[in-house]
Amino acid sequence: MARKRANGRPRRHNGAVAIPLEVRQAGPTELYIRWDDEKQCTYAVRDLRLACPCANCVDETSGKALLKPKSVAEDVRPVSIVSVGNYALQFKWSDGHDTGIYSYDLLHRLCP
Ligand SMILES: [Zn+2]
Repeated sequence: MARKRANGRPRRHNGAVAIPLEVRQAGPTELYIRWDDEKQCTYAVRDLRLACPCANCVDETSGKALLKPKSVAEDVRPVSIVSVGNYALQFKWSDGHDTGIYSYDLLHRLCP
């Protein structure tokens, strides 16, 4: 069991957003995140790929989806996940896409 560092706790973004305590692959197509508000989420990884918020996937001004679901392989999966500035996770996907930064707020809202 990892003990929480007394002073290493990330600051909450916007004061109210939960932060992930644990992120792991739950299965070939599932990602598990346990949040500090006790919420536990198992995501279908392809749904996360489809929800990519980057400027290539969503039009920044209109908010319209630019990503065509059909263009995303059924077996797409994350090849790496890194945390970004204590407020987000950046996914690198098996289709080579790596510009999506998923804020904790977004991931928390996407919880199925
Ligand atoms: Zn994207």
